[in-house]
Amino acid sequence: MRAAGNRLLFAWLEITGLCNEFCDHCYADSGPKGTHGTMTVRDWLNVIDQLADMGTLDVQFIGGEPTLYPSLPALIKHAHGRGLGIEVFSNMTHIREPLWEAFTEYGVTLAT
Ligand code: SF4
Repeated sequence: MRAAGNRLLFAWLEITGLCNEFCDHCYADSGPKGTHGTMTVRDWLNVIDQLADMGTLDVQFIGGEPTLYPSLPALIKHAHGRGLGIEVFSNMTHIREPLWEAFTEYGVTLAT
């Protein structure tokens, strides 16, 4: 099989373990005591660059609750600039106005 046949077309980016909810069924064990982990914003920007360079088409920001990650708009803007399709997987209970604006500006789709 050619290497191109193994291209990573889609990637989940689990940018935080923090969530405003605390669900018993949470697969990620996320909740109000969760953290953003050890990855810096620069690390995530580098991941996005690496994915784009590999030919990935789409990324999904997930957590935890990704809308609680302060630099989500910057990550969205960067991913869009690299030509990636963007989806945000949210519980839809805590989306601030600037995020709605970013979703609209960069053609972000939502999943819940
Ligand atoms: S990430 Fe989803 S499933 Fe997990 S605690 Fe938050 S809302 Fe519940």
